Amino acid sequence: MKILVLNCGSSSIKYKLFDLATNEVAANGVVDKIGLKGSAIKLERPDGQKVLLEGEILDHQTGIEYILGVMTSEKHGCLKDLEEISAVGHRVVHGGEKFNGSVLVTDEVVEMMEKCISLAPLHNPPNLKGIESMKELLPDVPQVAVFDTAFHQTMPDYAYMYGIPYSLYQKYSIRRYGFHGTSHRFVSEKACEFLNRDFKSQRIITCHLGNGASIAAITNGVSVDTSMGFTPVEGLIMGTRAGDLDLGAATYIMDNEHIGTASLNTLINKHSGVLGISGVSSDFRELEKAAYQDQNERAILALNMFTYRIKKYIGSYIAALGGVDVLVFTGGIGENDTQVRAMICDNMEYLGIKLNEEVNAKLRGKEAQIQEQNAKVKIVVIPTDEELMIARDTNDIVNELAN
Ligand code: ADP
Repeated sequence: MKILVLNCGSSSIKYKLFDLATNEVAANGVVDKIGLKGSAIKLERPDGQKVLLEGEILDHQTGIEYILGVMTSEKHGCLKDLEEISAVGHRVVHGGEKFNGSVLVTDEVVEMMEKCISLAPLHNPPNLKGIESMKELLPDVPQVAVFDTAFHQTMPDYAYMYGIPYSLYQKYSIRRYGFHGTSHRFVSEKACEFLNRDFKSQRIITCHLGNGASIAAITNGVSVDTSMGFTPVEGLIMGTRAGDLDLGAATYIMDNEHIGTASLNTLINKHSGVLGISGVSSDFRELEKAAYQDQNERAILALNMFTYRIKKYIGSYIAALGGVDVLVFTGGIGENDTQVRAMICDNMEYLGIKLNEEVNAKLRGKEAQIQEQNAKVKIVVIPTDEELMIARDTNDIVNELAN
């Protein structure tokens, strides 16, 4: 069973072809700069060799044609025939309140997805373009949509509502949705599998720390709270996003800098976070070099702020869950940054969180337990794999359909 996973952005399409029979990634690459100068398809061959093929790729459909062409080409291909693709899974950013799980794409589903466009005007349209193009190119192949927001649809209303007039929720569906759901679901399930524990009986806090960062509280196998909100700008301090911010400060900035909503949006999404604070970088490797080698005070401040905010969220989620059994780290920073993990877990022993510093200091990028031997809370690193989760959901839904 070969499943193609597509992640269509505004000017790029990431793709991965999974062979779920052998659990191998048969093809992996990205179409870049769609509709722009220098468009190309970059791929990694199964032998690890990287290939770049330039071409005039004006739209998403042409991009997908390139992907299918490369996968069946003699030189770089892995398929004899496109018929070997049994289903296509799409990452879709926003499912609003309409989707609480992955779904088979039908005309009705597309219609419902179109209604979610206003909630993610930059992300959902290219996701839909991918679905439409695939329908044109491989009309007989079933497609499945997997939403970033779906896993968090189990949040109770008192966790997802904002303290603004209720009429705005009714009129515009303004509420917290949460994102990174596919990753939080994948790593929380995987952590329980790894620890040989029942997912449905654990209280889990998952920290997805990458360029975008969010944290989730999970109990009885469902998400009950998460740090991102109506948009992915709420919550943790991120690479370039502000995270939680006093709205009064936002309106004050607009008044005094004489800027409108578009500029404020750019400011809080692209120029804030650890980049905005440090003035150095949004990349944690560079940030830490500046902090520890050059003693750059603002880089040190950014790291302190980043880890302090996460510590506060962990504390509040322990209160929300009535305790915690498993704490999971994932994402580029969560999986690799030993110093950040140590700073977050520092002085949390009274809550049962006690890192084994020696084990933590050596652990990068692989599944492992990193807590002290007799600590109450298991602390685990789980590399995330959102594409694999999408492939598995797609496989499950298509199999159900066949039975
Ligand atoms: P994205 O949200 O774009 O998927 P990633 O999950 O790839 O982001 O995470 C990117 C972040 O992970 C960057 O800040 C990068 O510096 C950090 N990172 C990656 N490897 C390491 C490492 N070995 N040590 C510290 N930080 C790392």
